[in-house]
Amino acid sequence: MNVKKKIIRNKTKSIQKYRFYVQSAFALLCIWIGIEFYFFVRYLESNGTVSFYNRPPGVEGFLPISSMMSSFMFLLTGEIHYAHPAGMFIFFAILLVSLVFGKSFCSWLCPIGFISEMVGDAGGKFLKKFFKVRLKIPGWLDYPLRSLKYLLLGFFIFSIFFLMSTMAVRAFLDSPYNLSADVKMFYFFANISRTSLIVLSALFILSIFVKSFWCRFLCPYGALLGILNFISPNKIKRNAASCIDCGLCAKACPSSIKVDKVITVWSDECTTCMNCVDACPVEDTLDLFALLPAKKSFKIKKKWVAIGVVSIFMAVTGIGMLTGHWQNKISKEEYLYLHKNMESFGHPTGPEAMKKLNEDAAKEKGAGNLNGEWSK
Ligand code: SF4
Ligand code: SF4
Repeated sequence: MNVKKKIIRNKTKSIQKYRFYVQSAFALLCIWIGIEFYFFVRYLESNGTVSFYNRPPGVEGFLPISSMMSSFMFLLTGEIHYAHPAGMFIFFAILLVSLVFGKSFCSWLCPIGFISEMVGDAGGKFLKKFFKVRLKIPGWLDYPLRSLKYLLLGFFIFSIFFLMSTMAVRAFLDSPYNLSADVKMFYFFANISRTSLIVLSALFILSIFVKSFWCRFLCPYGALLGILNFISPNKIKRNAASCIDCGLCAKACPSSIKVDKVITVWSDECTTCMNCVDACPVEDTLDLFALLPAKKSFKIKKKWVAIGVVSIFMAVTGIGMLTGHWQNKISKEEYLYLHKNMESFGHPTGPEAMKKLNEDAAKEKGAGNLNGEWSK
């Protein structure tokens, strides 16, 4: 027998406007960092003849491998490496945000996630208007494609945690390649090669047809945060008793999660964007819950997700600033030297290079030379 449910309309305000504001502010901050870094590189290009412009430490947020290695070394030895300390604090901030609020960094702060979302939304509207279709990757293809990002993450984790000794990690962090990684990254985009341009254009075009193509299938950072998502105690929960099975939550979910078919969303793709919660028309039916033992779970209001994500990120990066570990310890003179000789610093990639780093590190240790003495 069909029992008609009494519907109490959900009158809570959508949080999406505020999510857009947070994403925009973070994207603008990244643009500002890019502009400041451009002036810093101009100073290096002039060989120190134009006035010096301070290097923005936030640029280290775009050096995930170096940040991961600095974090690894910090956890093993308690030492904060002098080259890219801000990158390490940004990395820890992202991990903590994800531990508390799932993969929320992707939908609230990440500038790449923001651009992918914008492109995907615009592409979806375009396809719907002119071709009356919305592309959806079938499940049999979606799962293997989604595992690609885990393979990439596995490769990085294997290379760092299994192929490198602590000494080799330190040798990598001390290497001129790592010290100039931010400037090298600048030139990667400023003098972009034809192959890189083709790859980036292909990713852009694919993101028009498949929402968040890069984030869903390829981003190793997203894969790491997806794993933390499982550990996070905060989860989207559906109240089956009041749910009217309208399916609006699943329709609103940018990660194509079947929210209407589960009680608790346990998915590595959930980014705590709160779109499903906003779309639900029935009061107290779909919310974010802190799942605590002994039935002590409680509902987390939408605004606390916004406040929480921003506050955790600011608190962890703030610790880096307040403890004097934000600006790196590379002098202008060293940067000028690195810039002049940058072409000769290759990337140590693959098991052979790791083996060499391990061997070099052992030799360097014997010679008591592990602290960037090369540049003197
Ligand atoms: S399940 Fe809800 S919170 Fe998670 S990604 Fe989908 S819409 Fe966003
Ligand atoms: S939006 Fe989802 S949770 Fe809310 S009533 Fe509809 S199906 Fe149920």
